[in-house]
Amino acid sequence: MVKDIAKELREKFSQMGAEVPLKEIEQKLDLLINQYKVPEDEAKRTVMNQYVRDLKLQRPQTGGGGEAQLVKIKDIIKDGMWVSLKAKVLQVWENDKPSISQIGVLGDETGTIKFVAFAKSDLPKLEEGKSYYLTNMVTDSWQSRFSVKLNKTTTIVPTEDVEVADRDTVMTGAIVDVQQGSGLIKRCPECNRPLTKGACADHGKQEGEYDLRVKAVLDDGKVAQDIILNQEMTYRVTGINVDMAKKMAMDAVDPGVVLDEIKRIMLGKYFTVKGPIMSGRYLLAKEMERTVKDITLDEVLKKVGAV
Ligand SMILES: [Zn+2]
Repeated sequence: MVKDIAKELREKFSQMGAEVPLKEIEQKLDLLINQYKVPEDEAKRTVMNQYVRDLKLQRPQTGGGGEAQLVKIKDIIKDGMWVSLKAKVLQVWENDKPSISQIGVLGDETGTIKFVAFAKSDLPKLEEGKSYYLTNMVTDSWQSRFSVKLNKTTTIVPTEDVEVADRDTVMTGAIVDVQQGSGLIKRCPECNRPLTKGACADHGKQEGEYDLRVKAVLDDGKVAQDIILNQEMTYRVTGINVDMAKKMAMDAVDPGVVLDEIKRIMLGKYFTVKGPIMSGRYLLAKEMERTVKDITLDEVLKKVGAV
């Protein structure tokens, strides 16, 4: 039966990390078996080989214990490799796709890599900050960045803490925006999230605790990167601490003056920022230095219209 063979093949592809629509497999089988009268076994083999070739699938390379080879993240250099990793879960990102059960970042002493687990594979959830021995994952890439896909054959075993390489990003550029929500804010004492109009989405009206932060955009000419400065970094860059900010806000009867002052200090200035990228979006500034950008004679001449 075409339907049964198609189901069997789909299961095999899924184990190799590819989700192929059942209809598509059925159509190919139907063509071979019912129209060209190819024997079922041969049709099955033909369709199997075609997908393996077209999708660059690889059958699990069984080492000693029927597991893909244990590698380091830096050794992942092409698509369609079957690998096992000992790695730490650095981040689990928010994900609202029903087909994906988890998406995030794994790290080991040689680097970091994105991971994806599909809902279909029905695997236990990975926890942020924990280390695991993960077997039989398939590598993939997008825009020359590699990822690993967990699948039905993947086993997940908690393991001793894995040391992770320094994963900070360094960027130099101009601050092109200081966003709303920067400056003096109040946080919910229950969950630490910023209050909106004196209330937390989960915990209702709160007195709140004062905090100081900056959400800004740094543009290095190629990328506009969202960056976040915590209270301490805000003080180091702007010279404003929480007490000063409270006094500024009280004197002006307007907490907005703190944001204005931060804008005055930071906007258009060049900085070098170093820190990890959180949730795939925000660079959390651990180090931040003012960069003096030298203007070349050419630029001066251009400015005065001499060339
Ligand atoms: Zn709260």
